Amino acid sequence: YCTFTQNHKQMMEIRKQNCMTMKITYYKKPVFIHQGYMQWLWDVDGKRYLDLFAGVATVSVGHCHPKVTAATQRQLKKLWHTTNIYIHPELHEYCDKLASYLPDPLKVIYLTNSGSEANELAMLMARLHTGNFDIITFRGSYHGGSQQTMGLTLTWFLPNKQTMCPDVFRGPWGGSYCRDSPVQTIRECSCAQANKHYIEQLEETFATSAPSQIAAFFGEPIQGMGGAVQYPKNYLKEAYKLVRQTGGICIADEVQTGFGRTGSHFWGFQGHDVIPDMVTMAKGIGNGFPVGAVVTTPEIAVSFVKASHFNTFGGNPLACAVASSVLDTIREDSTQQNSLHVGTYLMTQMAKLRDKYEVIGDVRGKGLQIGMEMVKDKGSREPLPPEAMSEILEDVKDTGVLIGKGGVHGQTFRIQPPMCITREDVDFFLAVFNKAISGYTDRK
Ligand code: PMP
Repeated sequence: YCTFTQNHKQMMEIRKQNCMTMKITYYKKPVFIHQGYMQWLWDVDGKRYLDLFAGVATVSVGHCHPKVTAATQRQLKKLWHTTNIYIHPELHEYCDKLASYLPDPLKVIYLTNSGSEANELAMLMARLHTGNFDIITFRGSYHGGSQQTMGLTLTWFLPNKQTMCPDVFRGPWGGSYCRDSPVQTIRECSCAQANKHYIEQLEETFATSAPSQIAAFFGEPIQGMGGAVQYPKNYLKEAYKLVRQTGGICIADEVQTGFGRTGSHFWGFQGHDVIPDMVTMAKGIGNGFPVGAVVTTPEIAVSFVKASHFNTFGGNPLACAVASSVLDTIREDSTQQNSLHVGTYLMTQMAKLRDKYEVIGDVRGKGLQIGMEMVKDKGSREPLPPEAMSEILEDVKDTGVLIGKGGVHGQTFRIQPPMCITREDVDFFLAVFNKAISGYTDRK
């Protein structure tokens, strides 16, 4: 039970007066969470929720996972912090361990405290290495909240060069079910043709850069905030080739897709059969503890070492101990395999609901990185309006399940739970979601 002294009303008052951190809340009646265990969260009144969003794909192995908690406690008693001017074993042991999960030549690691910091650093490294400035990303992407990374993000702020997102559902080319997905019910469509058109868009973006000015191409293997958007097969492969021809480097943002979330692979980029020049990671790396990382090649690292960069907390002993135990837990609990099995089951079942309801336009994703794109009707594919989205979201929450939202129009429900969820949890969710959608359809 909760020992917090403020009641809901007082907390909302503090939020209004003193708390600027993250004003967004999905719900008309906000959730006041105070405790978590594995895939479960409890609010201050003791109500339990199945957490299918995991703080935006952040809690990877489970809230307060006993193994990670134990490792954290051991380190808490030993050493929290020492500046990286001194050498401490946790940092070196962790870098060695993390490097073993990455293919050659991605072996040099710089630890940060967040995804924004990792991406900010990646941009700087790319510019130092190539001597170029322009960074290209997808419209609809999210890469962080710092000044530079906001420029990569779908917001209004200092936009960098954005190319058309190769979204085969909402974009002009592709068919609704055009993707590389394990769901049996999916029909084939002309990926190659769609791919060609999206690649032409990328080439047009190059054309608007000064010649040889591209420093990097930034992309998530599956877009997270954009609404679990998957690209046509071979898109990343061809894009990487073109970017490298211009003298730029390729960066995979694995903040949401990394650490086994996509099920079939440990890293999302492996599902595209590419090896980036740089990988950025955060969220799942620490199971909710603030850790981030940039991993790159020895060649690119050399260009950066000259810059002599300092970070007080990046790679602190506590963060390294946590991140290290997260890697062990993913292996020991077969978390990646669970992502694949439970995620595939969820998508297969969701595809049935898609066929049943006019408002579920698309179900997509890989492993436990899943999106359900909601539409007014399948013919027009117009996004379901925000009021309808929030009505459904509120209903799902009131019945005890937390899911996320994304997409340029806020039209996609997102499922990115702690990777320990079970088939029984999925069945519970499906019943809850079915009830919410049928309730909404009846009221309409
Ligand atoms: N990249 C991606 C793909 C993200 O989803 C996020 C956070 N939503 C970030 C970067 C930024 O990470 P952080 O919030 O840890 O700065």
